[in-house]
Parts: sequence; C-alpha cells; structure tokens
Amino acid sequence: MDMVKIVVAGPRGKMGSEAVKLVDRTDHFSLTAVVDSKQTGETVKDIKGLPPLDAPVYTDLDVCLSEVECDVLIDLTTPEYGKKHMEIAFQHNVRPVVGTTGFSTEDVENLSKLADQKGIGAIIAPNFAIGAVLMMKFASMAAKYFPDVEIIEQHHDRKLDAPSGTAVKTAKMISEVREQKEQGHEDEKQDLEGARGADYEGMRIHSVRLPGLVAHQEVLFGGEGQTLKIRHDSMHRGSFMPGVQLAVETVLKIDQLVYGLENIME
Ligand code: NAP
Repeated sequence: MDMVKIVVAGPRGKMGSEAVKLVDRTDHFSLTAVVDSKQTGETVKDIKGLPPLDAPVYTDLDVCLSEVECDVLIDLTTPEYGKKHMEIAFQHNVRPVVGTTGFSTEDVENLSKLADQKGIGAIIAPNFAIGAVLMMKFASMAAKYFPDVEIIEQHHDRKLDAPSGTAVKTAKMISEVREQKEQGHEDEKQDLEGARGADYEGMRIHSVRLPGLVAHQEVLFGGEGQTLKIRHDSMHRGSFMPGVQLAVETVLKIDQLVYGLENIME
C-alpha cells in the first residue's frame, strides 16, 4: 500500500492522541499535520504526551489543508466541528474518517450528498471498536430466536448523551429482525419514573454513568428457562484504533459516504 498522508484533528483529546500514536506506529501511514484549535505548540513534539514528531500544528483545518498534503482527515473533536471539518475536507478533496458522535440522520444525508458530488469516500463511525460492532451483529442474530431483550449500556460520567449511539444502533438492528412485542407484564407500573429504562419499540435500554467506566454494553436476552448475554467492554481508548486503521484503509477505496463500521466489516 502507498504511504497514506494523514491529518488528525483533536490531537490532545483522549481519542485523538491515540490516533496520532496509531499513525506514528503504522508503517504505511504518515502524519502531515494536526489541527488543535488552541495551538498548543509549533509541532506535534511540543504537545505533551504525543510522540516526538515534526508535523506542524494548525488551529484551522481550512488553512492546514491548503498548505499540507493530505489523503485522509481523522476527526476526533466534537459533533459541531466534526460536521464542519467534513465539509472543509470535501472542499479540499480530502477523505474524512470521523469518529465524533452526535450526527443526525439529516446531517448524514447532507454530508452523503457532498461526498457524492465530489465522488470521494468518507466514513463516519460512531463506534470504532470492532468488538462492539460484532456484539451488535451477534445480538441481531440472537434476536430472531429471543425476542425478549434488554440493553444495558455503561459509560464514564463525562458522557453527555444517553442512551449511547451504540445502544440505539443495537436496538435498531434488533428491531429489524425481532417480532414486534411489548416486553414485561401488561399491567407493569413504574413506581419510580425511569425504573424500566427507555422504550425502543417495546425493548428497554438502560444507561449507567459512573466514573471509572470507559464504554461497555450488555445485550441480555431471556427465553423459557434460559438467558443469553452478549457483552462488550472497551477498557482503553486504544481499543478503538484497529477500527480507525480499518476505516482509513477503506476510505481510500470507496467513493461514497459510509455510516457505521459494520458496513465496512465483512
Ligand atoms: P476529548 O478528550 O474531549 O477530545 C476532544 C478534543 O478535540 C479536545 O482535545 C478538544 O480540544 C479538541 N477540539 C475541539 N474542537 C476542536 C477543533 N475545532 N479543532 C481541533 N480540535 C478540537 O474527547 P474524546 O473522548 O477524545 O472524544 C472525541 C470525540 O470522539 C467525541 O465526539 C466522542 O463522543 C467521540 N468518541 C468516539 C468513539 C468512537 O469509537 N467513534 C469513541 C470514543 C469517543 P479542547 O480541549 O481545546 O476543547
């Protein structure tokens, strides 16, 4: 594979710093610049905790992509900037790989049109953990035989949205194969509001938020005399990097926007 020139936006972040290390240790990847809105140094080696690389630090993606060579932008910033950065990347014919969460269906449709107009690939992956994608696929296989299911997702207490995008995506994938049903007793009452969690087409989703957690999800199925648990745990942000690498390698070969890592995994 030819050398892939990469710009990382959000290099000081928990995910972005792992992405910089991924690019550094991957033989066929080369970091040409990073975009840090606070300009915490002249080059990457000035940023605490990052490898001693000479790639320049820019505060503005548009300026960065006008000045450095780049095949792929990895964006791990915020939902607001994730969207803006994708639009800027398209203007420069750069293929974006975006891990920021919080894209609406309308956002994805609009960005998809931009990718089509340019005829270049783009990937938005709300969850880069390959194990989490497999968990969703296995859960959707099981739901055909076990229509009674509850999803329990657990995240660190800095997470702003609930339920997690992965939990909603899991429920959506399950609903596509599961026979429609309202779970629990027909006369069920909640003495404390929210006790039974959120309702997604009769399935329940429970969100746990605690310091110390990273990203975890259990899909719990129940049937006559048996239960089945499918669980995935991300213990460290490094767990997302094989998925980022797969997305970077794939985005070079496609000419449209793909939403979700499951759509590029065979
Ligand atoms: P984080 O530690 O807060 O990192 C975000 C970084 O982006 C911060 O360093 C922030 O800088 C920087 N930033 C914000 N706006 C920027 C801009 N305009 N230009 C350049 N840098 C900018 O968060 P995180 O845990 O790494 O997560 C980052 C994103 O990835 C979030 O949206 C999160 O939900 C998502 N996420 C995705 C996955 C996945 O698998 N796809 C997994 C975990 C998290 P400041 O400190 O200056 O604000």
